[in-house]
Amino acid sequence: MTTRIYLDYNATSPARPEVIETMTAILHEPRNASSVHSEGREARKLVEDAREKVAALVNAPPAQVIFNSGATEGNNTVLKYFAADRILVSAIEHPSVLEAAPHAEKIPVTKDGIVDLAALEKLLAESPLPSGERGRVRGQTNLISVMAANNETGAIQPITQISEIAKRHGALFHCDAVQAAGRIPLGITGIDFMTISAHKLGGPQGVGALILGLCGITPTLLDGGGQEKKARAGTENVAGISGFGTAANIAHQNMQNYKKLETLRSALETEMKKIAQNAIFHAQNAPRLPNTTMFSLPGASSETLLMAFDLEGISLSNGSACTSGTVKTSHVLKAMGCNDKTASSAIRVSTGWDTRESDIEIFLKVFEKISDRLKRKN
Ligand code: PMP
Repeated sequence: MTTRIYLDYNATSPARPEVIETMTAILHEPRNASSVHSEGREARKLVEDAREKVAALVNAPPAQVIFNSGATEGNNTVLKYFAADRILVSAIEHPSVLEAAPHAEKIPVTKDGIVDLAALEKLLAESPLPSGERGRVRGQTNLISVMAANNETGAIQPITQISEIAKRHGALFHCDAVQAAGRIPLGITGIDFMTISAHKLGGPQGVGALILGLCGITPTLLDGGGQEKKARAGTENVAGISGFGTAANIAHQNMQNYKKLETLRSALETEMKKIAQNAIFHAQNAPRLPNTTMFSLPGASSETLLMAFDLEGISLSNGSACTSGTVKTSHVLKAMGCNDKTASSAIRVSTGWDTRESDIEIFLKVFEKISDRLKRKN
């Protein structure tokens, strides 16, 4: 049997062995963190221990962390709470932001996939708030939603500047930090609502957190239970939350490992450029997550390329396929001004905690084979 090579960490990361160990032990016992008996109290301890670890990852006080089912829920919770207000979202947000706020106005991005700050200022100037006023004012700009790093291109967004702009204009700032958490240093300062997800950093799927800043608003989505201090109804996923804590802690302690991924990525891109001079690398001039390479190989569709790599045992993505298993043309590349032809031949390599140098070497051999085949065909 050939071993497969997994290079799709931005879609989901394999769970770390320590996470599996933590969760397996918990699943052997009945654990409801709201129960008063010993098992319940033990469950509560596990949840609070995980809360401290997740809080440490984003430098937040633990009391500001609300556990939920993941970033789709976190993003919906925040965006829907502000449904009656003016919302500005970047054009490259994840569908869980874009579709949760269909009325939101789009902030354009540059050709390198970075939010256009001048355009954001201009949009905000259209509905100025009385100076110094911050918070909810009906009919005014209330919420800006910009991700910390893009899932497709890896482009890191200028969130410190955006938080300053938001503050100056009296708007609140939501940041989807799913792809940045555990990969680059990240803090809650200046952010009112942050969403993160366990499975992107080596934790389990179906668990995440909404982390509150200091604006004093706690958006809620679900009714029917007093869990998470009434901020998120539903029995806590104790094993999942605990696995999340373990993954967050390991990612936090090993942040420097991502420097290794950056070195690996530089080598990867240098070699790819030698093999296929016609390959187009996206967001090349932007600061990027150390693990992400998004490129187009003209002459083939994303779908054909993904299948060709899959047949050779390599798992990649076109970046926007995480919803359905189908391959759609990327709204992110389109927002960056990429033409349809280039956008429809894009694929993404994303590495993570278990990626080895030998994986990249094998990828490069397959890349050469596929690109040679394309050259002969076209
Ligand atoms: N935001 C971004 C940027 C993502 O990449 C993803 C996952 N593809 C999500 C939100 C949704 O996260 P979850 O899988 O936890 O619902």
